[in-house]
Amino acid sequence: MIYIILSDRAYDNDVRPIVKSFYPDVSIEIVDKSALIAYQPSDPDGSIKDSSLTLITINIEFEKDRVNIKIKDSQGADYNSFVHTPDPVKERPAYKNAMKRLLYKMLSNLTEKELPWGILTGIRPTKLVYEMLEDGIDEEGIYRWMGQEYLCSEDRINTSILIARREMQLLKELDYRSGYSIYIGIPFCPSTCLYCSFPSFSIERYADLVDSYLDALEKEISYGASCLPNRKLSTVYLGGGTPTSLSAKQLDRLLGLIRESFDFTHVREFCVEAGRPDSITKEKLDLLKKWGVDRISINPQTMQQRTLDLIGRGHTISQIDQAFQMARDSGHENINMDIIIGLPGETPDDVIDTLDKIKLLNPDSLTVHTLAIKRAARLNTEIESYKGLRAEDVPKMLQITKDFMRDNNYLPYYLYRQKNMADNLENIGYAKHGKEGLYNILIMEEKQTILAFGAGAMSKFVFHNRKHIERVDNVKSPKDYISRIDEMIRRKKDFLSKNPDL
Ligand code: SF4
Repeated sequence: MIYIILSDRAYDNDVRPIVKSFYPDVSIEIVDKSALIAYQPSDPDGSIKDSSLTLITINIEFEKDRVNIKIKDSQGADYNSFVHTPDPVKERPAYKNAMKRLLYKMLSNLTEKELPWGILTGIRPTKLVYEMLEDGIDEEGIYRWMGQEYLCSEDRINTSILIARREMQLLKELDYRSGYSIYIGIPFCPSTCLYCSFPSFSIERYADLVDSYLDALEKEISYGASCLPNRKLSTVYLGGGTPTSLSAKQLDRLLGLIRESFDFTHVREFCVEAGRPDSITKEKLDLLKKWGVDRISINPQTMQQRTLDLIGRGHTISQIDQAFQMARDSGHENINMDIIIGLPGETPDDVIDTLDKIKLLNPDSLTVHTLAIKRAARLNTEIESYKGLRAEDVPKMLQITKDFMRDNNYLPYYLYRQKNMADNLENIGYAKHGKEGLYNILIMEEKQTILAFGAGAMSKFVFHNRKHIERVDNVKSPKDYISRIDEMIRRKKDFLSKNPDL
């Protein structure tokens, strides 16, 4: 256990992610200084009485012009330091960053660890760089800012600049400011993966509900197709869940509905996540082609059978190979594959083997995720069962994937991070030239308004003139979505009527 004692709880969310990044496997409890003193009056320095359970105690005092940090380790050794700060009200981000840098340096000394992204805990580091490039800041200025303000490593700054430049190039041809994209969510899957935190419900258990779900979706899509009349549709993404877990008849109905509801004249990409190989059939692949889908994803996550079994994917390696070949035979010329590094029990050798097998298939793009253990995932709720299976040396695995991409002509084109990622790393999308997923850039860099339909879907409205984003969400459960579909439509309607300048 790590105890963090704060004199001002308004900084909880700034302190916790940094401490968690240094101590990913240790539970953290944040307590208020005044509450602690009331609870333990005999312990005026704020250290916790039961030191046998306490790895370290971090005590942070926020003052008007300085922050003091005291760390006490389990042996009773004290480490004290402070930093002079700008005004916490007038220059709040700078005040927070000064505190975070001090905390980072003290924990880095204590653990002898460096974090590649320094104190940058947000999920979109390339968005920051993209905006700096747009504002005319040169690379030297970006290096200075990312390095000194956020303590990012040179390697990560290089990667961020490379990706942001590539994204700019790819979006150059697209009038994304006056266009919009759509996302349609199908929250059903053949089974639930161990690490899943998406809206996902068993297609078998919910089979009776699927047609009503499509009815509700039809209602929401019919409204959505007319609600941004002055904008051109740029990209369409059908995700989930696993859209291909629908039957061929249901998939045909849904794809037909999408094509007939929206004007596809300016659409640059129609992407469908055919994620789970066990949901793919020749008939469904042909339907995707018939309705003009031009990018699909078939996701192995790993090519190690024992890991697939462990994480509950419910399919075999040969099913992955067959699904991929079938897709090629059906004429799909832009196929992405997702892999995850850091899966339970995997080693760098497993990643090498996975990539060797994927190389034989030669997908057009590859997305490398670093395992993030989300609160709702079974991997977290059943954590005791998987404790001994922590993956070895995730940073080395990530480097293996980077070397593979470089050697096989896959270029990085988008990057994002998630909370609770193994070793505080990142996810990177790579693609062969011309095979990039535009929707991925638009959503990750928050460049374009995205209308989202279906259970758990979140619409994002981008106000370019104000550099501002607003979100409108739908309920997560398919049952609630069906019964409250009129309310879901009303939420969008109300938002749009209040924001005529969109
Ligand atoms: S296929 Fe994707 S959405 Fe479905 S359970 Fe697995 S991780 Fe979740």
